[in-house]
This record gives sequence, C-alpha cells and structure tokens, in this order.
Amino acid sequence: MKRRKALQQISLGLSAGLMMPQLLTACKKDDPGPEVPFDGNVVIIGAGAAGLFAADILHTKGIKVSVLEASNQLGGRIQSFRNSNEISDSLLFDMKNRTIADFPVELGAEIVFGPDSSWGKIISNLNLSTVSLETVATNRFILDQSVKTAVELQGDSDFLQSQTFVNELPNYSSAAVSMKQAISGLSRRTDAILNSQIGNYYGTSNDTLGISLLSQDLKARTHDGKVFSMKANPMQDILLSRFSEIQSLVETGKQVKSINYGSDPIVITLKDGSQVEADKVISTVPISILKGGGISFSPALPGEMTSALSRMGMDATVRLVLDFKKNFWGEDSGFIWGGTTAPHYFSTGIGRSEFYRTISITINGAKAAELSAKGPDLMIAEILAELDALYAGQATLFVRRNLDTTDPNFDKIIYILKDWSKDEHFKGGYSYPLASATTNDRIALGKPVSNKLFFAGEATDVGGDAGTVSGALSSGARVSEEVIKSILGIS
Ligand SMILES: Cc1cc2nc3c(=O)[nH]c(=O)nc-3n(C[C@H](O)[C@H](O)[C@H](O)COP(=O)(O)OP(=O)(O)OC[C@H]3O[C@@H](n4cnc5c(N)ncnc54)[C@H](O)[C@@H]3O)c2cc1C
Repeated sequence: MKRRKALQQISLGLSAGLMMPQLLTACKKDDPGPEVPFDGNVVIIGAGAAGLFAADILHTKGIKVSVLEASNQLGGRIQSFRNSNEISDSLLFDMKNRTIADFPVELGAEIVFGPDSSWGKIISNLNLSTVSLETVATNRFILDQSVKTAVELQGDSDFLQSQTFVNELPNYSSAAVSMKQAISGLSRRTDAILNSQIGNYYGTSNDTLGISLLSQDLKARTHDGKVFSMKANPMQDILLSRFSEIQSLVETGKQVKSINYGSDPIVITLKDGSQVEADKVISTVPISILKGGGISFSPALPGEMTSALSRMGMDATVRLVLDFKKNFWGEDSGFIWGGTTAPHYFSTGIGRSEFYRTISITINGAKAAELSAKGPDLMIAEILAELDALYAGQATLFVRRNLDTTDPNFDKIIYILKDWSKDEHFKGGYSYPLASATTNDRIALGKPVSNKLFFAGEATDVGGDAGTVSGALSSGARVSEEVIKSILGIS
C-alpha cells in the first residue's frame, strides 16, 4: 500500500531536465526530436542506470532497441530491499512483522551526490522528498578509540590536517601513487579516518586506491558536492518509474556469455546457448565482469581497452544493515568515519524515521573480502565488537533480535546483508582507479570498437562521476550519442 502510494507520487516523463549531449537535447516525452533512420537493431547488455538510459534515448529516437539483463530484476546496483527472497545470501529474521525500518533500505546506492548531478536532477524534477545530510547530520570520527564530532576535534592538529587533505583531494597534482603513499606524510593516528573517508568511500582501501585519477575525477565534477538521501522512495522505484516506458524492452534472466562482433550481424550467445543477432551492441556490464572474462569477445577486445582495465579495480563490497532498540551513537549522527572493521557506518534513518535506529554499514576492498569469507555471523560479531568497544557494550545490548519464541531463529540478530562480491552478475561493488590509471584509461574503456561494439557503465564516465549513479547515467547518454553518430555516419 505504502509502495503503491510512493509509485503514484513519481509518475514520470522522459528525459526531463537531464544534462544531455548536444545531439540528444530534443529528447522529451511529447517531442522526441527527429527520428534516426536505421533498419538495424541495437542490443544493450545490462539493465542498470546506464543501460536503461541508453535504451530510453535510442528508443525515443525511433531506433529498434532491446536490453538483455542477466539477473531477475532491473536497476543493477540500484537495488532496494523489499523482501528477503530477493537476496539469497541474506536473512531477515523478523519477516513476520517486516519491521526492520520504516524508510527505504538500500542494498546498493543510497546517497545522491549533488542535487544538480544527472541522478540528482531526475530526483529534483520529480519533487520527491529528500533529506539533506549536510543539514540534518553531524558526522563523527573515531580517533584514539573515542568518537567525536569535528567541532570537538578542532584542537587536534592531526585531525585538522587529515580533513585538509580530504578537502584538497581535487587539487592534488603530485606523483601518481597509491593513497597510502600519498598520506604517508600525515600522522598515523588518522590513517583509519582517511581510509574511511577516501579508500573505502571510493570502493576499496587506501592501500589500493590511486590518488591521481581520483583527484582528477573529483576536479572534473561540475555539480556541487552536497549529499542527500531519499525520504520515502526506494531508489530502485525512482529509476524504474523514470524508465517505465522502456521496461517492456528488457528481458531478464538473459546472461550474455559471448559476443562475436566480427560477424555481420553481430552474434550474442547467452548462457542457455540461445543466440541473439544485433547490428550494434552496447555493453554496460560492470568492469569486474569484463576483467574476469565473464563475456568473451571475438575478435578479442583491443589492447588499449584491456590495458585500461588492468589499471582499474573493482573490489569486494558488503552492505550490512543492523537495527537497534536505542540510538546510542547520537541522534544527530550521520556518518561515523574511522572504523577498522567497518570503515563506513551510516545512521541511515537520519531525517527519515523517528522510530527506528538503524545503521547501514558499507565495507569495500580487502576487509570486505575477509569478512565475506567469514560469513554473516562472524562478520556481525566483529562489527558489534568494534561498536561495543566504542560505546561501552551498548551495541550487543541494544541490537535487535528475533523475539518470536516459536521461530527456530528465536533470539538471533535481525539483519540484512547484501554481499555484492558473491553476486555473479556484479562480482564486486564499484570501480576505482589504481595508482597508474589516467583519464585516458576511462576514455579507452568507453571507446567504440569497429563502430559496432560500444561501452557504457559507471567506470567509463569522464565527467568526474565514475563509481556513482550519475556517472552511469551520463555514460548512457554519451554512448547513445556515439551509436546515433555511427548510424548517421558522423565521426
Ligand atoms: C554497495 C554500493 C553502494 C553504492 N553507493 C552509491 C551511492 O551512495 N551513490 C551513488 O551514486 N552510487 C553508489 N554506488 C554505485 C552505483 O550504484 C553504480 O555506480 C551504478 O548503479 C552503476 O550503474 P551501471 O549501469 O553502470 O551498472 P550496473 O548497475 O551494475 O548495471 C549493469 C547490469 O549488467 C548486468 N549484467 C552483468 N553481467 C551481465 C551479462 N553477462 N549479461 C547480461 N547482463 C549482465 C547486471 O546484472 C546489471 O544489472 C554504490 C554501489 C554499491 C554496490
């Protein structure tokens, strides 16, 4: 009932107000602009933000387009929790009452970066209620085993230096090294804070993340850095409503295994052995799938692309959501930075709920792989132990448990877990640059091959939003323009 209401709230038009490449500015629901004459067909692989946006634009231009999606749902890494059946590796023990939260629980993207970004504009145009995290939340930092606000740490020069480093990232212009090397001149006391705010935040850890391309990406961003969450609408609903007109073009359960683009037409072979023909193919699959050989290409992908892939990473990622009977970490708390077991604690109910005290935990990189291998029970135990040490045992005391004495899971901790590394269609969280990566690598990742094979997806964005929903959307717009140009013979 609640959900139907939310969907009614967001009846959407096409392409409303999005920043689009020049060729596509005419795309509007009632005025789709000139059709592009094309007898052939375009097949898009992947129905995440990039694939759906590309399909929407090409469809609007009168081009025959279809989307092959491997999983059983649309949205990709925009995935909102609805019931435990959707996430096989997760358990929600309180299924009877469904009471984990009275606001959307996000398994993937949960924050919008910039109201004026591609994703932010879609949301703004829908007039949906949002929660400005800068306004309602005060972030906290774990330093020397205690949790403090930035104001409380004003007298701590190590802390101040660490925050200057974070704020100055877009202006970095020194050597192309790992983040760990880049912060080597700072105090080791703030290592965990910097790992939370940078390494983990951008998909991995400071050991692995490269500073050079990250800082260039951040500098290239044209939208403001304000962050917000959705008050009531699950992000997946927003995305699906926005692209409701093309949902019928998507076939789910269609995992692509190989693409022969040397033939005419291109032959796409699926996991079940069936084949689909196309004149042009757009791949939007995560780079983890490309790096791992999840799709084989014939002819092989150009060396420029494989070498660009080798300079990008996409690591293990887990999202764990825990509910507590009491908010012991601060009613106004937003992010808590500086954990070593869990570098990213987010008080996800902030501004959205009076009744639930919920922490959303996102762990990326080697730590996520380590905890993933240990399994949910040990993972939760280690995270609660970290919180207990900081908050005098209150995490274990107040964590919500199954109170149903008739349930075999009586007294077990209630949680939601999405282990992205174990999902064969993603095999990780989101892309990040290694130390040696450059902007040319992002360009190479999105470069068309033989005017037949095209690439989009968050990792290919050169506008500064790689790794985010806005980057994925922008790449969908960019690739559509490339396909249209190739059809029209414009170079
Ligand atoms: C835990 C987590 C937290 C995040 N937090 C944020 C955030 O707060 N804000 C933000 O902006 N971004 C966030 N992101 C990143 C954001 O979700 C992604 O950048 C964006 O959704 C990627 O969109 P995409 O279209 O490029 O790829 P995807 O959404 O991954 O879409 C690709 C699609 O391809 C499909 N696919 C894969 N292999 C095949 C195959 N062989 N055949 C057919 N289909 C295939 C997949 O199933 C998927 O649906 C987060 C991501 C994660 C995982």
